[in-house]
Amino acid sequence: MKIYNTLSRQKEEFVPIEPGKVRMYVCGPTVYNLIHIGNARPMIVFDTVRRYMEHKGYAVNYVSNFTDVDDKIIKKAQEEGVDAAVISERYIRECKKDMEALNVRPATVHPLATQEIDGMEEMIRTLIDKGHAYTAADGTVYFRTRSFAEYGKLSHKNLDELEGGKRSLLVSGGDQKEDPLDFVLWKPKKEGEPFWKSPWCDGRPGWHIECSVMSRKYLGEEIDIHAGGEDLIFPHHENEIAQSEAANGKTFAHYWMHNAFLNIDNRKMSKSAGNFFTVREILEKYDPMVVRFFMLSAHYRSPLNFSAELMEAAKNGLERIRTAVSNLRYLLQNAAEEECGSAKKELLASAGIYADKFDAAMEDDFNTADAISAIFELVKFINTNAGAANSRAVLQALLDELLGMTDICGLRMEEKTELLDADIEMLIAERQAARKAKDFARADEIRGELLAKGIVLEDTREGVKWKKV
Ligand code: AMP
Ligand code: ZN
Repeated sequence: MKIYNTLSRQKEEFVPIEPGKVRMYVCGPTVYNLIHIGNARPMIVFDTVRRYMEHKGYAVNYVSNFTDVDDKIIKKAQEEGVDAAVISERYIRECKKDMEALNVRPATVHPLATQEIDGMEEMIRTLIDKGHAYTAADGTVYFRTRSFAEYGKLSHKNLDELEGGKRSLLVSGGDQKEDPLDFVLWKPKKEGEPFWKSPWCDGRPGWHIECSVMSRKYLGEEIDIHAGGEDLIFPHHENEIAQSEAANGKTFAHYWMHNAFLNIDNRKMSKSAGNFFTVREILEKYDPMVVRFFMLSAHYRSPLNFSAELMEAAKNGLERIRTAVSNLRYLLQNAAEEECGSAKKELLASAGIYADKFDAAMEDDFNTADAISAIFELVKFINTNAGAANSRAVLQALLDELLGMTDICGLRMEEKTELLDADIEMLIAERQAARKAKDFARADEIRGELLAKGIVLEDTREGVKWKKV
């Protein structure tokens, strides 16, 4: 399995620290609003990575935090006249609902920054003891960036260039810093803000320290994969590396994975730019699996432009796969329990190449675009061959192969049927009337419509029966 590592800017063979196990950390959202579909990209992408790893037999310990203390959360709390915790708890709850809709599995642990302050204090103390951090007069603690010789190794930035850039910026509080490159580990409280007591001042942590601390606590000092959107490479992940490696004296993460942006009109979708759609808004218009399918239709390192046309294409693509699944299920109802003869074995062997193609695409840095092409090739094969197969074993094998692939992508094949029993009965009555009037086209159309929603009709002597498959 090859993974593109931002650290080396190359695809590298994946070798886990512990055989059969993966320790993976994905930076989660700051919770002060409903998440937008740009935020959903890393969630869907890395959930798919996790699913593929599990398919390969790895036990994946998957940790993803919620940043639940931050300027934006505090501002929103002040606007509403409530505690910051009210805001963060509300949006964590909402975020989890969106994740569930998008079939993003909960992490093994979802740590919260506010619950891990002790660990942050401990790491900051270690950094001060080792000479990697210092306290300014007002109690702010800064990381001494130049004390970490490898600073810049992830973002491939040169310290002197960085410093040049920073000098021209008027950083508030910058005059207390020994060096413009130093960044905050702990900062003093401001009026009306949540704070914690510490040896340095009543205050709260800087953003970067939480991930170093939570990653170490739940996964250990050295982990396999650290991931997030590419905007996190600098400064967030660069600073995490500096903190963790300076404190622990060990390589922090072996593989750094970053997804490219979800854009709109070729600009990054973001809350601050105002060019965003929340997941909630999009789910009013589209089945959540269409959103998931759309996200996976591009490789995670390619920018992806959100547009109605591409969503429509995703909807049609997903529909084709779902129809193949429904057809197989339908054919299975009436298939013969016969021995799998040599011709059928051959058929299965030729169908097997699509699963291999799918795996090969995923092994190549999780190329979901190519993996989805393999799914479509299998669908085409099924459409051509399943009708004539008439063997339970063959049909079941084809169905298992197809569902195996869609499962790894986290694509639920069951459309959420909004059909009530009464609606189904009504459509059946309409179909009967159409048949009576010899309008077989309409009758077939209704059968197809119901099939797409997982309802199979059976014409029996006692009349039409239906069941969900
Ligand atoms: P934030 O809440 O801004 O810290 O973002 C949470 C996660 O979403 C991070 O991994 C970001 O890199 C990612 N993210 C934010 N905006 C986008 C976008 N437009 N496209 C892809 N990923 C994004
Ligand atoms: Zn982080």
